[in-house]
Amino acid sequence: MALLTGKTYGGADWTPTFVTGIDPEKCIGCGRCFKSCARKVLGPEDLVDEESESTRMIMTIANQDDCIGCAGCGVACPKKCFTFSTKEA
Ligand code: SF4
Ligand code: SF4
Repeated sequence: MALLTGKTYGGADWTPTFVTGIDPEKCIGCGRCFKSCARKVLGPEDLVDEESESTRMIMTIANQDDCIGCAGCGVACPKKCFTFSTKEA
């Protein structure tokens, strides 16, 4: 299975890891990932807790097709909410 790869500026091989999930239970809605993504892939959403009837903001993958697999959002996240995956070429 060949993976989708690219090159860095310096010509080294680069295997992107694309965002595939954000854990809504861990997310505290701080927005750091949102600010770190230059591709506008992420978007905030209100999550309603039915038991307490309260609402809190969480981050979601709003536009996965534009992800370039840089994993910067995962580096920015203080709660380790993200999962990433490589992609077949
Ligand atoms: S991996 Fe990079 S491009 Fe994709 S959502 Fe995260 S910061 Fe944005
Ligand atoms: S950085 Fe992590 S905790 Fe903060 S909004 Fe993004 S996913 Fe949620």
